[in-house]
Amino acid sequence: MSDLRNHAEDIHEQFSDHLNVDVDDIESRLSNLVDEYKVPVDEARRSVTNHYLDEAGLERDALGGGDGSELVELAEVDEAEQWVTIEAQVVDLWEPRSDSVGQVGLLGDESGTIKFTKWAKSDLAELEEGTVYDLGNVVTDEYEGRYSVKLNSTTTIEERDEDLEVGNDDTTVEGALVDVQSGSGLIKRCPEEDCTRVLQNGRCSEHGEGEGEFDLRIKGVLDDGDEVTEIIFDQDATEELTDITLEEAKEMAMDALDTEVVADEMSEGILGYYYRVTGPTFGRYVLVNEQERLTDPVDGEAALIKARSI
Ligand SMILES: [Zn+2]
Repeated sequence: MSDLRNHAEDIHEQFSDHLNVDVDDIESRLSNLVDEYKVPVDEARRSVTNHYLDEAGLERDALGGGDGSELVELAEVDEAEQWVTIEAQVVDLWEPRSDSVGQVGLLGDESGTIKFTKWAKSDLAELEEGTVYDLGNVVTDEYEGRYSVKLNSTTTIEERDEDLEVGNDDTTVEGALVDVQSGSGLIKRCPEEDCTRVLQNGRCSEHGEGEGEFDLRIKGVLDDGDEVTEIIFDQDATEELTDITLEEAKEMAMDALDTEVVADEMSEGILGYYYRVTGPTFGRYVLVNEQERLTDPVDGEAALIKARSI
């Protein structure tokens, strides 16, 4: 994909909420300035952005955070689609699940941690684990109460020669697992680039019908007698919790011609048991990184009735 095309897509994304404008139109405006008039790309980009600001009757600030120069702490990120600057250390790099993702992992600063995604097409420098960076013009995103930042082709990356004390925002909760919520068990996620939304009846709320990729998840409720906490087990945590692997879950679903059997089977083995789980909180959820089953099962139904009466 050409460089101008990338810029055009970035601009298109910035205006997607404000204008019904075609990426091709944006690209041809950019190309006119860059190829015909030999305007530097940055300047062309500003000029084209200004054109669409005028057309939409918007101030530059309306595109969310203006020039993205506001320095924020990671724990302050609590709204999607904000353009911000952060100073953070690369805590962990993960394996990208899609070709469109260049790098994905976890960033941390004193206030906590946040997931980041860097698009393959953004053509940015490789981030290295353990290194601290100033990252200018990143865009915040949110999914199921969980925030992330996206590095795009306008992002600036500056390596800092310093260490950061990365804050630990893990929470530990203990209690009886009194409910396994819908959307648990064998689920399908949207295969679109870094979307990962769970498909409902084969549809992604953002991208429509899709094949989907199988995944395991348990959304559960822990009750400690005083308080209930919603917790999420990802694939690894679900496999550990239920002793059922993704492959086994797929076979179970195929045999029964129904994915629901997986959640039923899983629930049977875990409901009513006491667990201690630890992990970061995102929105109202605790994401389980560590888990331990504590004692014998309690009467799940009784605990649930109690939980509801609180
Ligand atoms: Zn999607």
